[in-house]
Amino acid sequence: MTVKKYDIVIVGAGVAGMTAAIYAKRAGKSVMVLDAKTYGGQIIQTFDVANWPGDVSVSGVDLSQKIYHQMNNLGAEFEYAEVVDVIDTDKNGDNEKFLVKTDDEEYACGAIIIATGTTVREMGVEGENKYVGRGISYCATCDGAFYKDKPVIVVGGGNTALYDALYLSDIASKVYLVHRREEFRGDKILVDKLHMRGNVEFVLPYSPVEIVGEKRVSGLVVRSADGNEKTIEADGIFVAVGRIPATEAFRKLVKLDEAGYVVAGEDCKTSHDGIFVAGDVRTKQVRQLVTAAGDGAVAAEEAVRYLG
Ligand code: NAP
Repeated sequence: MTVKKYDIVIVGAGVAGMTAAIYAKRAGKSVMVLDAKTYGGQIIQTFDVANWPGDVSVSGVDLSQKIYHQMNNLGAEFEYAEVVDVIDTDKNGDNEKFLVKTDDEEYACGAIIIATGTTVREMGVEGENKYVGRGISYCATCDGAFYKDKPVIVVGGGNTALYDALYLSDIASKVYLVHRREEFRGDKILVDKLHMRGNVEFVLPYSPVEIVGEKRVSGLVVRSADGNEKTIEADGIFVAVGRIPATEAFRKLVKLDEAGYVVAGEDCKTSHDGIFVAGDVRTKQVRQLVTAAGDGAVAAEEAVRYLG
């Protein structure tokens, strides 16, 4: 196997990773971006990004394509590949400090930027796995069209759940928004918009307990804090209960916090020399597109400075 050499390998092609690639290329470095899935990351599941400066409204897919073309035009390379292991070789030679392994290839590089983002969290209720693809979905923009004029449930109280409920209210006959608290974690402006929709019913404060159905989902049992249980009948359940940091390949090299996020401050430097982190996978307060892009710029600048 020929080992390909780069100044910087960026793992993850979301907004953070692609922005890092743009900055690293503009600084004259050779860059490989690896992502097991398509480029764009979490935003490709967002039908309407309304907080990206300069665009009143842009679809997540359109925005990710624009950023991809920008990094591509600058000469950053991109491969669909899952990173399975990363080794610090302790070599000081040209671009040889790290070996980044995927199933088929090995990449040697002088610095790494982790921009792997997060993966979906499951509700953890009875029947959840059994019904994935048969009424349970973790992506409203991917699967929403299957529920035209049918009742659906959205579970969660963050921005993802609120955006999903808005999106689905244009397609489904009825949207039940199930959240375990009276207060929402997501933005008030979205909650206000949902209150204006005639076909959205707030089910608060209720937690999901059990999925009901035979071959497909037919409803969800929910329970209030005082133990009151009821069953909501619906054809689809959209789960939006948060995300889990994707750090599997880096666990042995960089320090993680108790929730699994890569520990780093605003300089995006991890506990390991030569490894930087950008975007949602980093310990931080605000996980948004603009902060992911900001991290991408900082991580790339720091990596460039580190390489000298
Ligand atoms: P999140 O903000 O962490 O919200 C997860 C929600 O799920 C919380 O309301 C939580 O309830 C609830 N939850 C967690 N575990 C649960 C369980 N087992 N059963 C029932 N409910 C459960 O996650 P997110 O909505 O995916 O958002 C992640 C980040 O992306 C956030 O920073 C968000 O602002 C950002 N985002 C931004 C946009 C945008 O601006 N365009 C769009 C989407 C997401 P509690 O509130 O009670 O903990």
